[in-house]
Amino acid sequence: MRRIYLDYAATTPVHPEVVKTMLPYFTDAFGNPSTIYSYGQEAKGALEEARDNVAALIGARDEEIVFTSGGTEADNFAIKGVAYTKEPKGNHIITSSIEHHAVVETCKFLERRGFRVTYLTVDEYGLVDPDDVKRAITDKTILISVMHANNEMGTIEPIVEIGRIAREAGIYFHTDAVQTVGHIPVDVNELRVDLLSMSAHKLCGPKGIGALYIRKGTKLISFMHGGEQERRRRASTENVPGIVGFGKAVELAQQEMSEEAERLTCLRDQLIKGLLERIDHTRLNGHPLNRLPNNVNVSVDFVEGESMLLNLDLEGICASTGSACSSSSLEPSHVLLALGLSPEQAHGSLRFSLGKWTSEEEIEQVLDVLPRIVAKLRAMSPLLESHR
Ligand code: PLP
Repeated sequence: MRRIYLDYAATTPVHPEVVKTMLPYFTDAFGNPSTIYSYGQEAKGALEEARDNVAALIGARDEEIVFTSGGTEADNFAIKGVAYTKEPKGNHIITSSIEHHAVVETCKFLERRGFRVTYLTVDEYGLVDPDDVKRAITDKTILISVMHANNEMGTIEPIVEIGRIAREAGIYFHTDAVQTVGHIPVDVNELRVDLLSMSAHKLCGPKGIGALYIRKGTKLISFMHGGEQERRRRASTENVPGIVGFGKAVELAQQEMSEEAERLTCLRDQLIKGLLERIDHTRLNGHPLNRLPNNVNVSVDFVEGESMLLNLDLEGICASTGSACSSSSLEPSHVLLALGLSPEQAHGSLRFSLGKWTSEEEIEQVLDVLPRIVAKLRAMSPLLESHR
């Protein structure tokens, strides 16, 4: 059976060109970039070339990019780094109620250590209101962290407006751009961010590598102590093959981004329209227009997301319910609850995230298969019985 992968927001296959670029750095060019002989310098050269690519993609300078082990580390670094640097000035952080666990759990950790965190509510489409950000600012606020686009329901946040507010108030602004970098234009100066998190495995790069953009002049305590790598901001021997792969993935993404975004938007809208037309009692989660080109998230009443997933899997279709990180738990997604969905509606959610190898035939296949699955599940659903 041919499998259909529609979970690109969880992770992507690595582009064959990326694999090809990485391979020599496991074998021939395996040197430690901190060494001065040719092996090391070869690795160092490749590392800096990758840094160049990543910086260019987001309008940053090379020295503003610090490689990390992924998006989670970048989020931790940004938030804890600012919190501990700015502690003498204040202890208040503003974030949203729809952030990824990497941000939410970091904020909760800081709350247990005496910081105060405001979790801003969102509207029914998942949008943060910039005026709410403004109202939440106090003289103790040291950081605002709002994600660029949500990984579960795809809504793109008004980062430009929030960036303006943060800048006017002289408060550091961090955005988690793990789902947007390489997919839609991201420019750190247009967005007016001081810190921005990225991850390679969401853009056809390898897992275990990401980066934090740190605007020049931003004061940030490092939390990895050891050697002097990454200008002493992140100790540990660099993951050279990973970084090289990240650099190549970024280069490819930059070349293909506008065409891909257009192609995926068409497929996305075809899937949304088809699902809403062919399955009754179904709603779209997230913003209808202001959403990632590759994200489809729907709630189907009277069925469990997990049952739909298992049945889709039997047909070779991979999707998710909630985010990959929360799908192993029975808790309804905090993101969908924040939109005002009931726990039942959140449990009945399905996310399809499209990507480089998604075709129109695959979308048609989902539109053919899912209505049948829902009809079968509803026929035996106690949820539907109690509704009647
Ligand atoms: N932030 C967002 C919005 C994500 O979607 C993810 C991954 O799902 C992460 C952070 C964590 O990134 P990583 O898996 O590279 O640690």
